[in-house]
Parts: sequence; structure tokens; C-alpha cells
Amino acid sequence: MPGPGAFLFGEEEKKHVLEVLESGYLSRYGKDEDKNFKQKVYTLESEFAKKIGVQHCVAVNSGTSALIASLKALDIGAGDEVLVPGYTFIASISSIISAGATPVLTEIDESLTVDPDDLENKITGKTKVVMPVHMLGNPCDMDEIMKIARKHNLFVIEDCCQAVGGGYKGERLGSIGDMGGFSFNIYKVINAGDGGMITTNNRQLYERAFAYHDQGHKPLRKGVEIGERTIVGVNMRMNELTGAFLLGQLSKLDTILDLLREKKKIFKELLSSGDIKDMSFRKINDPEECATLLTIQFPEAGIAEKVAKALRTKTLSGSGWHVYNNMEQILQWRDSSGKRPFSKNMLPKTDDILSRSINLSVGVVDPGIGADFGINILTDNKEIEKKAEEFIRLVKGVL
Ligand SMILES: *Cc1c(COP(=O)(O)O)cnc(C)c1O
Repeated sequence: MPGPGAFLFGEEEKKHVLEVLESGYLSRYGKDEDKNFKQKVYTLESEFAKKIGVQHCVAVNSGTSALIASLKALDIGAGDEVLVPGYTFIASISSIISAGATPVLTEIDESLTVDPDDLENKITGKTKVVMPVHMLGNPCDMDEIMKIARKHNLFVIEDCCQAVGGGYKGERLGSIGDMGGFSFNIYKVINAGDGGMITTNNRQLYERAFAYHDQGHKPLRKGVEIGERTIVGVNMRMNELTGAFLLGQLSKLDTILDLLREKKKIFKELLSSGDIKDMSFRKINDPEECATLLTIQFPEAGIAEKVAKALRTKTLSGSGWHVYNNMEQILQWRDSSGKRPFSKNMLPKTDDILSRSINLSVGVVDPGIGADFGINILTDNKEIEKKAEEFIRLVKGVL
């Protein structure tokens, strides 16, 4: 089941997409002077920049592409280390490997986002970038992370793929670090099946990210610019149909976030009223969070396992491609010296927290992240009450 945006697909998306079909222009590049050319990708970039509060955006074909192009914009490659948490979607880690650099896994804390203390411990002479992941829509402790990054002269790429529209201390996620990477795949806050976005306030980084995403060209190229291409790039372009669909979704982002927060608050309060022994909720780093899952935690793995079983779901240790322990291709990966930097159970704090945590759905209903039980943004309040009663009955039955 997809993310919250999919529950509100409707007329706006249809209108934008039909305009593109009628225009005949499917590429992001067209004749600007032709009024038929609707410039959807270009418009999406400027509206997204406004929404997030940054100077520049580059639309790309996926969140993975957004992260790779950001790393390339920062000139990261062979011999460089990038700090990334061991609890994240696999793409955060695979993008670093694809850029030619070496990921270094860091622990998470009770917020399920990067543990700033461990982050500082893992810095070496080769570290160039910190990639905090706003995991499951919870903003990272950005004050601490930015302090550490500035102290050690490191770049920050915020992985905002699971946190479109979330905020931290009054600023939108993706506007705090040097660069931000967003995803619009079907599990995300808003989606178009696939798609991504890069955000930055730095003109030079924007130009380099744009060039990487389109064969080295300067931003918003006109023609082929022979002799003027700046770097070796690839093709990660977004097309007009995706841009159009996303303009429809973007216009609903704040409504989606309001619904998500409202339903989650009701569900959370009802679950709390059950007075379930030793149950707590994960630490949320800022009230402007956009968590698409509600995470509950217990003091011991054994208790969490019993609860998960009662709910017919899993603890986060078993939540597939979001836990380094379950990423077989990452565990097998060898760096340029032939070494395997990763091994099972190399992050004891992360392993412990994940073994005691369970995700309940509130916006994303996805067994892959362990969320089989819960509600969505359109569940009516009576249904939420019923779900909460069911939860309390099932959990009390096994504790
Ligand atoms: C979804 C996701 C990505 C990658 O996004 P795609 O659009 O699927 O390439 C990267 N990082 C995180 C944390 C994600 O959740």
C-alpha cells in the first residue's frame, strides 16, 4: 500500500497531466516561446523551492538519483567516506557506493535517526559528508549534526526522501544542510510512482547537480551547448508527465500533512489511554515532524516480539531493506582495497533499539517496513477508535 499522497489522487493531477498530453511536449525542454509548452518540470522546481524555502531545485527521476547527483555535485568519489545511519532505506547507502565513495555506518538513537554522539566518533581523515536521514518522517537532531559537521568541515546532505514537507525549528527539512534529496516513489508523502528532487541554497552546487543530472549541461539548457559542458554527467531527467502529476500532489502537500498529524494525534492519544505497561513512543525531535508511521517501543526485545506477533507484524529488526543487517548485497560489498567494511550486528545500539520497536501505520501501510497494523490518513475517527481498542485488547492479551 502506498504513502499518504496516493489517498488523495484526483482532479488536480488529472488536469496537469492532460495539459501535457494536449501540448505534445513530453520532455522538460521545449520551445519556451510556444504557449502550448507548459513547462511543468520547471514550474515544479520553482514551486518546490518556494515550499521548502531554498534558492534552487533540480527535479530528477528518483530519490536515489537525487542523492547520487548531490554527492557528485560535492565532488565526492573514490577514497571519500560518507557517514550514514545503519537504519535507513537501502538507497541512502547504495547511492554512496554508486558515487564511488565508501559508506560508514553510524548508530541511531531512540528517535530512529542518527545518533549524534556516534556520528562524531566515526569521523576519520577521509570523512567528507554526513548524510542524516529523516527516518520515517522524524527530523534528525539537526542542531547537533550541523554543529559537528561545521566543526569538522564536513558537507551535509539531508536525506529527506521519507520527510517531504517536514520541518525542524521553523525551517523545512532539505533547507538546513548543504543539499537535500527527496523521493516521490509510491511510499512517500507525495508521489508520482517515481521521481526525485534536489534542494540547495548554493548556486555552484545547483549548477553541478544540474550538470550531473543532464550530461554536463548548464541549468535549463537551450540546445546542446557544444564546448560548454562543465562535467561528465548522466541522464536523470524528470519528464513533463511526472512533473505535471507532482504539481497536483504538491498543491495538496499541506492538506496531506495536516491530515497525517491530526489522525496520528488521535490514534496516539487513544493508544496511550490504554496504559500499556512499559510502552513508549519513539522520541520525536521536532513537533513539525511528518512521521508516516507511529513507532512504539518496549524495554525488552522479548516483550516487543510478543506484541508484534499479537498484531501480526514484526519488530523493526525484521523490517526488510531498512536495516543494514538485512541488506545482503551491502554486507557482501567490497571496497577498492578488497575489504568488506560491513558485517552483521556491527551496530549494537541500533540492533537493540530496532529489536524493541514496532511500527504502526498512520500514513504508509507497508509490510516491508513492518507496518501491517494501523490506520491511514482517510480512516474516520470511529474506525480509529476501533483500531485502538483492538490494539489495546491484543497487546494486553499477551503482556
Ligand atoms: C525512498 C528512499 C530513497 C530513495 O528513493 P527512490 O525514489 O526510491 O530512489 C532514499 N532514501 C530513503 C531514506 C528513502 O526512504
